[in-house]
Amino acid sequence: MSNKPARITEFSDKVLSIVWDDGHESLYIYEDLRQACPCATCRQERKTSKNGRLRFKKTIPLRTKPDGIKPMSVESIGQYALKFHWNDKHDTGIYSFEFLRDLCSCEACSVPGEEV
Ligand SMILES: [Zn+2]
Ligand SMILES: [Zn+2]
Repeated sequence: MSNKPARITEFSDKVLSIVWDDGHESLYIYEDLRQACPCATCRQERKTSKNGRLRFKKTIPLRTKPDGIKPMSVESIGQYALKFHWNDKHDTGIYSFEFLRDLCSCEACSVPGEEV
């Protein structure tokens, strides 16, 4: 399993696509990515809120902003991470490639121990 992205593109205005250098493609809904923000503040928020468990809602987003959450820009941090500048002005989360690869929720990645 590779933690190095070969190509990062916008799949749609709501979805980011990362093709890893082992050929695997991961799709991430921006809203999910924003909710999964790994910064200390967001981790604390998830811990203390009642529904603190990280849950991805593919169909009915919890708190949809009128125009939807999306990054205004994406910055690469060295060779290991991405930083999203979200349109809600939050930008402290560093999304390491390893973290992103772990977040992949495609069928192949959701099955534990099913490495190819
Ligand atoms: Zn955060
Ligand atoms: Zn996957």
